[in-house]
Amino acid sequence: TGLVVAMDGPSGSGKSSASRGVARALGLRYLDTGAMYRAVTWWMLEQSVDLADPQAIAARALDPVLTMGTDPDAPAVAVGGVDAAGPIRTSEVTAAVSAVSAVPEVRRRLVAEQREIIGVGGIVVEGRDIGTVVVPGAPVKIYLTASAEARALRRTAELVGTTVDVQKAAMARRDTLDSTRKIDPLAMAADAIELDTTALNLEEVIAEVLRVIKE
Ligand code: C5P
Repeated sequence: TGLVVAMDGPSGSGKSSASRGVARALGLRYLDTGAMYRAVTWWMLEQSVDLADPQAIAARALDPVLTMGTDPDAPAVAVGGVDAAGPIRTSEVTAAVSAVSAVPEVRRRLVAEQREIIGVGGIVVEGRDIGTVVVPGAPVKIYLTASAEARALRRTAELVGTTVDVQKAAMARRDTLDSTRKIDPLAMAADAIELDTTALNLEEVIAEVLRVIKE
């Protein structure tokens, strides 16, 4: 128990695979906070909430019931008891999530739930604001970065029927929205260790994070 590892950074920086690998190596739990924003977004799309209207989003912010699994080998997310692991990864949700995550009522709700899940610790938590907002006192904070090219290449390899240029543009748009929103923007904590993963493979990233944790 006790240890909280905060893993922040933009999309495509290798956060998810690295976070799961680190949790597995240390026998810790794993929480994907991006999946929580995606799950709320998916539910809002299903309910036909007007995502161009922040007040409409705020009015429904507390309605979707989320259930998060914390096993790094089987990260699970359900909304209202329905498995949402697949649907939250669609390009429709990816394109809409920044509008939902910018709404203060959504963030307030999810940050509180994240802190509840984190509890006494023993967990690797990945997101955008973990080291700055969710657990500012986390003993280990890593901020993963990578070149725009490397990030787009990784994302393109995960998807079918897309191109590096399309992914690069989509990521740049999401980064801008996530880092310029008025509340809890994507930012590196002052005491975080920045790790550029551009030239590293997954095993090297995990090894580097484990080295930082042991220090
Ligand atoms: O990490 P992932 O790409 O799944 O995150 C999806 C979106 O959720 C981000 O683009 C961002 O808008 C939002 N997010 C956030 N704060 C977090 C995690 C994700 O605002 N801690």
